[in-house]
Amino acid sequence: MRFESLVIHGYKEVALGEKDVSPSIHLSTTFEREKDGSFPEGYSYTRRDNPNRTTLEQTLALIEGGAQAAAFASGSAASTSIFMALKAGDHIIAPNDCYYGTALILSEIFTRWNLTASFVDMADLASVKAAMRKETRLLWVETPSNPLMKVTDLKGVADLAHRAGALAVADNTVASPALQSPFAFGFDLVLHSTTKYISGHSDVLGGAVIARDTGNEAFQRIRDIQICAGGVPSPFDCWLALRGLKTMALRVERQSQNALAVAKFLAAHAAVEKVYYAGLPSHPGHELAARQMKHFGGLLSFQVKGGEAEAFAVAAEVGMITRATSLGGVESLIEHRASMEGPTSRTPKNLLRLSVGIESADDLIADLDQALGALGG
Ligand code: PLP
Repeated sequence: MRFESLVIHGYKEVALGEKDVSPSIHLSTTFEREKDGSFPEGYSYTRRDNPNRTTLEQTLALIEGGAQAAAFASGSAASTSIFMALKAGDHIIAPNDCYYGTALILSEIFTRWNLTASFVDMADLASVKAAMRKETRLLWVETPSNPLMKVTDLKGVADLAHRAGALAVADNTVASPALQSPFAFGFDLVLHSTTKYISGHSDVLGGAVIARDTGNEAFQRIRDIQICAGGVPSPFDCWLALRGLKTMALRVERQSQNALAVAKFLAAHAAVEKVYYAGLPSHPGHELAARQMKHFGGLLSFQVKGGEAEAFAVAAEVGMITRATSLGGVESLIEHRASMEGPTSRTPKNLLRLSVGIESADDLIADLDQALGALGG
């Protein structure tokens, strides 16, 4: 099956022989044992496993082109499980503009566990190479990155990692499985915040780690961490994520078309200083993104002429577009990123991030036009 069919019918290959067209929800936390001590369906306790979680995990593995997946209660819980699978003394290389939550997990939590991280410009392979140490065990990539939309050479990073015996891990949240397949470029693990494009409706938090191969040792540790530490999604969360992903192919295609139209409009606007969107031919990563991605995605950022006050003024004036954090939902969201990221943020103060939804592109452009018009530029 092609991707568009797989997101809709893939779960049937993994669901438990049910005839329900929409899978039923198994809320039970515990499952009855046979007299001989066995568990006939293979399920014993929901922290360990649950039919809805198995269905979601196996469907995610299928659509990402991997062999196995572990679902978590959030994307951050999924990232944490990957770092927990390393050992004290290991070194990680991550993008210097990676999702700020991931940078915080590394710099605030794991340094105390004696994991070290170097944050480099991942779009520049020479910088990545220069940061490699003999203790480097993991290279972390986000492409396009959030919020600066930098594009990283997936094959280049995977090759560097493997030559050093390190894991290549891609946070594929911003691209989504509909647009980019890191496994095709040699990556070992893919991470998703399923909160975003996979679920797609801003109503469920979740995360997943997907492994390309069945024998991945790090993944076995991640599975143990998932089960023992218990950062698992509820059956209803799994059901919602599975329901959402059925429309992902359609949503992300429309979001990409809308984002391109909005990016072109913004790039031509007198009150806009700079637009960050890999779909624009002027973007330094445009050609690489065109080779790695099916479309350029629904997320973009732009700098308003002026400073923080002007950026806040534009965000204050939008009508249909909602002022809120997050991305990947059907509704367009605008956010002043630096203030959300806090005092350690490296994001320009006049930058607004826009998660483009599936509304009419004309309405989105009209809304931004009137909001930018309020600047009087
Ligand atoms: N990775 C990226 C690229 C994200 O944008 C986010 C959240 O915004 C996360 C990971 C963390 O996901 P969650 O909020 O589900 O914990």
